[in-house]
Amino acid sequence: MTLIDPGTALDAARLEFREDLLDAGLLIGSASAGIYGRSATFEAILAGLDRVLTEMAAPLAAIAVRFPPVYPRADFERTDYIASFPDLAGVVSSFEAGDREHRELLAAREEGRAWDGWLTPSDVVLTNAICHPLYATLEGRLPAGGAVYDVLGWGFRHEPSADPMRLQSFRMHEFVYVGDPQGAQEYRDTWLDRAVETLQSLGLPVTAVPANDPFFGRAGRMLVSAQLRENLKIELTVPIYGDLHEGTAIASANCQRDHLTAAFGIRTADGETAHASCLAFGMERTTLALLRVHGLDVGSWPAEVRSRLGL
Ligand SMILES: [Zn+2]
Repeated sequence: MTLIDPGTALDAARLEFREDLLDAGLLIGSASAGIYGRSATFEAILAGLDRVLTEMAAPLAAIAVRFPPVYPRADFERTDYIASFPDLAGVVSSFEAGDREHRELLAAREEGRAWDGWLTPSDVVLTNAICHPLYATLEGRLPAGGAVYDVLGWGFRHEPSADPMRLQSFRMHEFVYVGDPQGAQEYRDTWLDRAVETLQSLGLPVTAVPANDPFFGRAGRMLVSAQLRENLKIELTVPIYGDLHEGTAIASANCQRDHLTAAFGIRTADGETAHASCLAFGMERTTLALLRVHGLDVGSWPAEVRSRLGL
């Protein structure tokens, strides 16, 4: 849980941006931090951005697939997400007992006591990384030359925050290469550059920096240093809060090597363990970055940006 200390200038800036978005009706608040409705204008920007990204990726001739915002716990178990990010995970619980237990649940609820103890974890989890459900479908051998997939979907991170750049439920658009190790590295490097150009063409002042994922606990700190040392994941950041913050990541290019492909038994055409690279765009974060950079009144955005986004 991110506690906002109103004493710091950064937290004040985050709260102010959030208030401005709510006042403009672009986001619709809820009782939970980081859970918002989106206005039609917000969705129009996001849809325009999605078209721009899809056009950018056209040369990849990617295979488009879509998955629901939950996926099987059996597949989640094959990733090490619960080891690296237990605090961000979400398991769906439901009621699987009988009438007697249901009466006990209702009695507890009537008395204002906690009733969730009568629920049990179901066989689905909220999708954290939208490429994980994809990998779960690719077990076995890939076609020669590998394959590229286009995945758009909802992700969840249990990360309640007053910063509107940090939502608990959000969309990602990912372009995922799965194939041989050299192909994965080349894909990451080539498409990182294309992503930077595309986002800059929308007026976003992006900077590419090595990622520093919030791995959990002591073992996690070693994973952070390995990630930085090997330069596996690059994030594209935009300065949302000026000098108060180093910038918020809106996209990333991640060379995952055989990290997930080994876990899911994905092999190249010649039988080796495949490598994967993922070019991922945070759809809400990029939309919010556009609003931050060009202003909350879309009518006053630069004509070229409006026309590229179809606004
Ligand atoms: Zn991914």
